This record gives sequence, C-alpha cells and structure tokens, in this order.
Amino acid sequence: MMNYVIKDFKTIINKMKYIDLWWYIRYTCNPYQNCEHQCIYCDARSERYHISEEFDQTIIVKNNVKEQLDRRLSKARTFLPDVVALGGVNDSYMPAEETYKNTKQVLEVLLKHQYPVSISTKSTLVLRDLELLNRIAEEAWCAIAFTITSADEEVSSFLEPRAASSEQRFLALEKIKQEYPKIQTAINLMPIVPFLEDTEENLEAILRTAHEVRVDNITFAGLTLRDQAAYFYQRIKQKYPALVEKFQALYQGQYIPQDKRYLLDLNEKVVRLCKKYSVPYRIKRRFIPSDFRRVNYLVAQHLADEAYERQLAGKYHQGYLWACNHIHNLSESLVTIAERGALETVQNVKGKIKEDVERLIKKYNKRKTLESYFG
Ligand code: SF4
Repeated sequence: MMNYVIKDFKTIINKMKYIDLWWYIRYTCNPYQNCEHQCIYCDARSERYHISEEFDQTIIVKNNVKEQLDRRLSKARTFLPDVVALGGVNDSYMPAEETYKNTKQVLEVLLKHQYPVSISTKSTLVLRDLELLNRIAEEAWCAIAFTITSADEEVSSFLEPRAASSEQRFLALEKIKQEYPKIQTAINLMPIVPFLEDTEENLEAILRTAHEVRVDNITFAGLTLRDQAAYFYQRIKQKYPALVEKFQALYQGQYIPQDKRYLLDLNEKVVRLCKKYSVPYRIKRRFIPSDFRRVNYLVAQHLADEAYERQLAGKYHQGYLWACNHIHNLSESLVTIAERGALETVQNVKGKIKEDVERLIKKYNKRKTLESYFG
C-alpha cells in the first residue's frame, strides 16, 4: 500500500546551473517527492539523486506549495521568467495528484507570474488541467510530453507498471493537439530499452502513431544503467531471464552500452524513421523572451541543434554545447557584446563557433518578428 506523508519543506523551485538542451528547461519544480509509477528502469533510484529506498512506496506531499512558490517568485530578484519543468525525479501527475492537487496549484502560480511550463508525464491525469495549461500556452508557453517507448502493452506495463497504457498516452496527445493546438506536444521516446524496444518494428509503430497524433516533435535516447542496475536486472530476470546475459554483455558494468556501433545504429534507425514520418527529433524552441535574452536564445538554439547533430554522427560536439551553455548564462545581449568587439570573451566562442555566432547574430538581429522564425 502506498503511504502519503504531508511535510513542510524548504525548496519549491530550483534554478539550474545551465539551461537543459533537450527541452530548454531553466527551473525545476517538484510538487512531490518520490514517485508512484514504479518504472523498473527509473534513473531516480540512482544514489546521485539522494533518494531513499522508499522511493516508490512513500510519497512526500509538499505542504503549502502555492504560498511558498508565490512568495519565492515574487521576491526572487535573480529569477527571470523562463521554462519551468514540473517533476524531474518524479511524475507530477502521479495518482497522488488526484487527491492533493499540488501540481495544479503550482500551475496557477506559474500562470500568475507568466512562467512557461514543460511537463513530461506518463499519466492521463494531465488532461484534467488542459484549460489552465492552455492559458499558460497563450500567455507564456507550454509543452506536454508523454513518455512512450513501447507499442506493445505487455512490455510497457512490465516496464512502467503504474503508468497509463501506451494507447491511452497516444490518445491523450491526440486530444491535446485537437482541442488545444497552442500547447506544444511531444513524445519522449526514452529510455529505449535494448532487446525489448529497439526493434525496427516497435520504433516504426511509435513514429507512425506520433505522426498520426501530430506531435510537434519527439526526443529519444537509449537506456542508462547507474545504481538502479541491480533492481533493473532483478526485475528483468523475473520476466525475461534469457536477456540478463545479453544486457550484461552490452553494458559490461558501465552505465551506457559499451558497443559504440549499437548506439550509432540506434540513432540512425530513429532518425531515419523520424524523416520517413516527418516527425522532428529536436524540440523547436518557442519560448523566446523579448528582453536582452532574445538573440542569445535564438543563437543558442542553433548551436544546440548543431551540437546534437554532431553528437548523433559521433563527431566532436562539446565546444558547441559549452558555447551554448555560456551564451544562455550571459547577463547582456550578444548584440551588445559583438558591437564592443568582445565576442571572444564569451567562453567557447572561438574560431569556427565564433564565425557561426557572428553570422547568426546578424540573421536574428535583423528580423522584426519572432513569427518569421517559426513559419
Ligand atoms: S515516472 Fe519517471 S520518476 Fe516516476 S518511476 Fe517512472 S521513470 Fe521514475
């Protein structure tokens, strides 16, 4: 039986050191601690998150989230409105939300302060809040992503025992796009579990349906096995004993597959299917602030996309990633810095990257409306 414990807490919102380059998240906000969904691959079981063994048995319901967050956003001088991810090391629409409504209260405060929102979930309970999320989409920006990694319900209910079925998640995405087109929708095709989900047949079924329900993009990644590996292997052994040795041979005790060819082949397969079904595999950044960050964010998105393409192809990409991180953290516009002839003072903006940045500043500083970038 699940335990729910209501607790006072110190932190409701965290500012990340660097903006995340998958979903462009600046802040994380967790209305709960721990998670009820019990996914067997869950990375949040890793020790690096300092989460207790009661992770999927006891849910901490944070007390007074509405007042705490409102106070924090009203007083935080160093905070500028930017993308807030709800959940992160849990699903903010886990069953507890039906009773406690902490996530809904957080959304009401974010709307009041006009902060954009990014939600990743495996629960159709998010549909309850669509009107509120649509208001956030109209006044700031909102994206809802469902994690879907298997078209086979037996596999998905084994890997994610307390989440909605894959079919329910696809139907939810379809409903959102039909009724609230301003909300950006996506599928997080991650983690793609080797031997169970990396087949052409499974990936094609997901991409085909992604196209049919008109998601704006997918994001994809393979499975990482950190400290949760022991629990994962224990569960795999119960249902697919023949796979344990195969996993161990592929991972060799490390957190990613040790056969580089495996990862390159997986990337190639997903990218090819994305192209076949016209589904982008990178999010289109649509929250672009109108203050000094405007050109910086547009340039950074370009560098992040370039880094990603290089990474997929197994090429050097770290310089682009770090340039992007440092540009996101600037406290003045790249335009002003370029006018002073000081672009090289921005870390990692050197050589070819500097040439790219100069070209992009000219491109983005000229245009009058953001719509012209979005088509
Ligand atoms: S929904 Fe996410 S946080 Fe919750 S158990 Fe599953 S993987 Fe972990």
